Amino acid sequence: MEQIVLSIIRKYGSDANRLMDMLIDLQEQFGYISRQAVALLAHNLGLSQVDVEQTITFYHFLSTKPRGKYAIYLNNSAVAYMFGRQAIKEAFEKEVGIAFGQVTDDGLIGLFDTACIGMNDQEPAAIINNKVFTRLTPYRVKEIVRHMRQGLSLDELVNESYGDGKNQHPQLKAMVSSNIRRKGMILSDLYSMGKVTKEILPGMSPEAVIAEIKHSHIRGRGGAGFPTGFKWEFCRRAKGAKHYVVCNADEGEPGTFKDRVILTEKPELVFEGMAIAGYAIGGDEGILYLRYEYRYMKNYLESVLQHMRDEKLLGSNIAGIEGFNFDIRIQFGAGAYVCGEESALLESLEGKRGEPRDKPPFPVEKGYLGQPTIINNVETFATAVRIIENGGEWFTQFGTEDSTGTKILSISGDCMFPGVYEVNWGFNVEDMLDMVGAYDVQAVQVGGPSGTLIGPAEFHRTLGYSDLSTGGSMIIFGKQRNLLKDVVLNFMEFFIDESCGSCSTCRNMPQVMRNKLLKILKGKGVTSDLADLQNWGKVLLASRCGLGQTAANPIVSSLKNFRHLYEDLLQKDVEFDQGFDLETSVQGSCKYVGRIPKFHHH
Ligand code: SF4
Repeated sequence: MEQIVLSIIRKYGSDANRLMDMLIDLQEQFGYISRQAVALLAHNLGLSQVDVEQTITFYHFLSTKPRGKYAIYLNNSAVAYMFGRQAIKEAFEKEVGIAFGQVTDDGLIGLFDTACIGMNDQEPAAIINNKVFTRLTPYRVKEIVRHMRQGLSLDELVNESYGDGKNQHPQLKAMVSSNIRRKGMILSDLYSMGKVTKEILPGMSPEAVIAEIKHSHIRGRGGAGFPTGFKWEFCRRAKGAKHYVVCNADEGEPGTFKDRVILTEKPELVFEGMAIAGYAIGGDEGILYLRYEYRYMKNYLESVLQHMRDEKLLGSNIAGIEGFNFDIRIQFGAGAYVCGEESALLESLEGKRGEPRDKPPFPVEKGYLGQPTIINNVETFATAVRIIENGGEWFTQFGTEDSTGTKILSISGDCMFPGVYEVNWGFNVEDMLDMVGAYDVQAVQVGGPSGTLIGPAEFHRTLGYSDLSTGGSMIIFGKQRNLLKDVVLNFMEFFIDESCGSCSTCRNMPQVMRNKLLKILKGKGVTSDLADLQNWGKVLLASRCGLGQTAANPIVSSLKNFRHLYEDLLQKDVEFDQGFDLETSVQGSCKYVGRIPKFHHH
C-alpha cells in the first residue's frame, strides 16, 4: 500500500495544493483513506495529519472508513422521491440486507444517501463507483445487486443501455440522457470547434475581446449575475505573477443539470471559451472544477482536451498568436455543495476544506494560489465564444434589456418532457409550463432550494435578473404534491447537510427551523410559530456566504406564497407555546457539528 500512496503523491508532483486529487485517487483505489495513507500524505506534503483529516471529513465522497467494493450513492433530492425513490431505497435494503449508511460484513456493498447528483430529469438515479445509473426500478435494483454478488464489472452492469447524443461516445458510454428539448446559440449545431480561435482571435487584441464581452452585457450565468466583461477587465488589470481562468462546474444546486448537458454535448465550446478568457486576461492556465458526481465524464473530457491540443487550440502560440499559451486541466471536487461558492471553490482547488473566504479581496485580485483569477460558470464561457464570433451587438438582440442573451433551463418534476431548454431571457413561467407539458401545476421552484417557490398567481412573471433571477433550475410540482412535507422539508435538510459549519447562524438556524416545521407538520404548531419562522429566517442573512444567506428561503418563500398550507396545519385558537427552551432546541445541531453550546444563564 505504501508504494501506491507514494506513487500517487509523486503523480501530483508532491504538491500539497493537489491534495484533493491524491485523496480522490486513494478513495477510488482502496474504497477509503486509511490512517497509514493519511500519515504518509502528511509526512510527504509537509502537512499535519489533522490538516489532511480536515480535508477528508469535509467531503461526502471521501472517507476514512471502508465504503464497500461497490459504494452505492442514491440521490435523495425532492424530485427523486417524486419518482419512486422510497421504493428503490427499500429494494436496495432488502436485496443487500443492510440499511443505508452501512456496509455489508464482507465489505462488498455499501449503501449511502447523497444530495442531488444532477439527474433530476431521469430519477431515481444513483452513482455506483463513478458510474451513473438512471431511471432505477426495483427490478433493476435486484439485477444490479445480483450482478455485484457475481463479481461482474460495472461496465457489464451498464449493459450498453447508453443514453442519447454524446453519452454514447466510446470514452463516455453513460446511461445518462442529455434530453435537449430546445436549442439556442449555445446548444446550436452551428458551432464549429476552433473557428473563433483561428479565424477571429488573431485579429483582436485582448482589450478588444473584453470590450466585445462588455458590449454584449452578458452577466454571469451561475446565479449571482455579475457582468462578465467587468470581471475579465478587473482581472486583466490586477497585478500578479500569473493569472488563472477557472470554470465553475460544481453544479450542485438541486434541480440543475444543464452544465452536465453542455459539458457532454458541447465541451469544446466551453474549453474554447476558457481559452478566449485566458487570452483576454493574460492567463495561461485554466482549471475546470468539476463536481465529483460527474466523474463519469473524466476520460471523455480528457480526450476532448487532447483532441484540442492536437488541433493546436490549446498549447503554445495558439492560432499562431505569439505568446498565446493556454492549457486546461480538470480538477474534481469530492461532494460539497458549498464549493459552488467561488471562494470555497478556490479553497477546495488548493486542497483544503471548502470553507468560503472573507471578501474582499475578490478572486479577480487574489484568487487561486493568491493570484488574479476569474471564475465563471460553464454556460458563461460557452456563451462568450458565440459573442466573439458574432459580436456583442448581435448578442443584445436576444433576451431583454437588463438580461441579454439566452438561458439554459434545467426543467424537472411534474411535466411531460423534463430536460434542458435554451430560451431567451424574458420568457415567462406560464409559457415555460406550456412548453414542457405541465398541467395542474401547484407550484414551481425557481432556482433550486436557494431560490423561490411560486404559485399560479405569479406564473406571469418573467425570467431575468430583475424579476425571477435563476441559475436555471425549475422544478414543477403538481397538485398532488404535499409542498411542505415533500419539498420544503427536503430542501431544509439539504441545507442542514451542506452547511460548512463555520457560521453559528448557518450551523444552527436551519435545524431549528426544520424542527419547527416538523412540529407544524405534526399538528402541534401554534400561530406564533409562523412569526418565529419569519424572524429566524432574517437571522440567517447575517451568514458569511450565499449558502447560509439563502438557507431559510424554502420556508420563507413558501410562507409568503403558500401561507394557507401552514395555517391549515396549526392548532386552532392557540397563539403561543408554553415553555420554549432554546438550549434543548439547538442541542441537535450542536451535536451534529460537534460543538458544545455556551449559554449565559441569568
Ligand atoms: Fe459555511 Fe454556512 Fe457560513 Fe457559508 S454561511 S460560510 S456554508 S457556515
